[in-house]
Amino acid sequence: MAVLEEYEKIIGSKEIAEIKSLAEDLKGKRILIINSTKVGGGVAELLKSYVPLMNDLEIHAHWITIPGNDTFFSITKKIHNSLQGGKETLSDKEWEYYLKINEEFAKTINEEDYDMIIVHDPQPLASILYHNHTLPWILRLHIDLSSPNRETWDKMLPWIREYDHIVVSSEKYANEDINSGKKSVIMPAIDPLSPKNIPLSREKCGLILEQFKVDPTKPIMAQVSRFDKWKDPLGVIDIFEIVKKKHKDLQLILLGGAADDDPEGMMILEEVRKRKESSLYKDDIHTILFTDDYLVNAVQRLSDVVIQKSIKEGFGLVVSEAMYKNKAVVGSDVTGIAMQIDDGLNGFLVDPYDYNGFAEKISLLLRDKELREELGKEAHKKVKENFLITRLLKDWITLIREYVYIYE
Ligand code: UDP
Repeated sequence: MAVLEEYEKIIGSKEIAEIKSLAEDLKGKRILIINSTKVGGGVAELLKSYVPLMNDLEIHAHWITIPGNDTFFSITKKIHNSLQGGKETLSDKEWEYYLKINEEFAKTINEEDYDMIIVHDPQPLASILYHNHTLPWILRLHIDLSSPNRETWDKMLPWIREYDHIVVSSEKYANEDINSGKKSVIMPAIDPLSPKNIPLSREKCGLILEQFKVDPTKPIMAQVSRFDKWKDPLGVIDIFEIVKKKHKDLQLILLGGAADDDPEGMMILEEVRKRKESSLYKDDIHTILFTDDYLVNAVQRLSDVVIQKSIKEGFGLVVSEAMYKNKAVVGSDVTGIAMQIDDGLNGFLVDPYDYNGFAEKISLLLRDKELREELGKEAHKKVKENFLITRLLKDWITLIREYVYIYE
């Protein structure tokens, strides 16, 4: 695990000194951080990187997860989908079960052991209801809250209002029902020193991909994402089929690891595999279910074009991961992705339902190496300046400083 000093070669000594100085009076403070999984998905990815960095700064950050089971996580997945605008709502029984698990979990936490509690996403959100609230509680919601299902939102709003502060990924998600004094934006970020993002030679990447029967000498387009309907892997295959007509050598990689808190994943993967089997180009479609940071690194690095065809995206760390590797990403024009890609400058944005538009941009990039390199260089710059974990760490420390003393 990297320590803060190691980032100096990337962000410079001034920035490191600033972070250290901001953290100085938080030394010894005890922060409990709660989410729902240690593996899979962007939240775990972020916490894996910045929790150790907080500890390196002598802030005692303790990361735990709410223990769930399939029933609980299928309920919380429904909540997630519904808060992102999905139609499906929960029955009274499901809400009861959700609250029961939160209550049981809450009993395992002693507020006196901490100076602040930070809760990530809806799964453990209701645990605040079972405490005396003798210290600041901050809620970090990673999802797109711009048009939540009203019924679910109304149910959860009183619980959300229990929190001292809400953090979201974009101004656009700062739902107006949340009191403006209590909310702020912290954009997600990637860790340049994680095995997922460190430099890796072309040769090594090739060897890794060969293990998965991908030919590293032929062009590759890829989407790296959990198998999730919001990431639209079936749409990616449709687009691949259009591009393939002109680019006979092209291969498609759909890489997706599993997340403990996402029981829908296997069902979607099954649909993707069926769709692949019905494709004329099935031999060139590689669906890979395997969780490994070096594999993600190799796929992103060896891809000629990276696609991210999400229908909704809270942020989409995978976009920044690819951009940091000098890749021009063709992504859906949805809030999270549009925060990262500036259309035509460092990648392309396309309406998520415009399949021909996606195919056109991908084809353009496959034909024009110079353009790929030019946009890729800009993409790296954009991420370096905006979306590195050290900036996120600084944002969190600044926010924690605001709250950690208010209950004393
Ligand atoms: N990821 C991974 N292996 C995979 C697919 C995804 O390690 O096969 C990682 C990906 O590299 C990224 C995270 O999972 O760091 C996904 O974060 P993102 O914000 O893109 O989407 P989320 O899954 O949180 O919706």
